[in-house]
Amino acid sequence: MISIENVSKWYGQTQVLHDCSTKVAAGEVVVVCGPSGSGKSTLVKCINALERIQQGRIVIGDDVIPAPASRLSAIRARVGMVFQHFELFPHMTVLQNLMFAQMKVLRRGEEDAQARARGYLERVGLSSFAAKYPGQLSGGQQQRVAIARALCMDPSCMLFDEPTSALDPEMVNEVLEVMIELAGEGMTMMCVTHEMGFASKVADRVIFMDEGRIVDDCTREQFFGTTAQCSERAQRFLSKII
Ligand code: ADP
Ligand code: MG
Repeated sequence: MISIENVSKWYGQTQVLHDCSTKVAAGEVVVVCGPSGSGKSTLVKCINALERIQQGRIVIGDDVIPAPASRLSAIRARVGMVFQHFELFPHMTVLQNLMFAQMKVLRRGEEDAQARARGYLERVGLSSFAAKYPGQLSGGQQQRVAIARALCMDPSCMLFDEPTSALDPEMVNEVLEVMIELAGEGMTMMCVTHEMGFASKVADRVIFMDEGRIVDDCTREQFFGTTAQCSERAQRFLSKII
């Protein structure tokens, strides 16, 4: 589904991704963790073509990045992305947030867009919030709206960049539950998160990044097993966050 092949990226003179390679199979859930500044956000932004790569390539289904400019919005539409800070449109209702890109990017009719929006709102347990504005919702509810908004675009895979790290602790679980459900339904997912409970429950694989490199790329069993088979650096990192 997603193939990352020898990807390197620079911001100006600074190299932030070093020859990164990995694959995410259809239906697989991959958790990406690692210290702050290790390149996790940059990597997921490159997969969504929000950032350009200077070396290597990324294959997503039938698309290859770097892609011609004319394909970029189609690629972004097919790769669902959920950020740390929700990024809902504050001046639109929840329902309008869910309908906007469907109509603008996918050119869906209003009725069709609204039906899907209501369907996904129900899926994330927020049917009664359709007419509210994002500012009237809790952080956890806003993040569930952001997930529903991404799902409205019929994404072939979903990327999450620390979706729970800006939330108050009591709201983390309601968002993780939606993500666990999605994983159970067979959605292909790449999740940057330090929620190791989530990772040990649903991750097929765990990638550990450090200084722009993929240091570990192992199965959940290898990563969390009692005789942990991940690198010493990853084990040191894990011991600090668990
Ligand atoms: P992480 O998500 O793992 O914390 P990031 O991908 O955000 O790491 O950042 C990786 C490196 O790239 C860091 O050194 C960061 O300072 C740098 N960086 C991130 N975004 C930019 C940018 N827009 N311009 C320049 N440097 C950036
Ligand atoms: Mg980040």
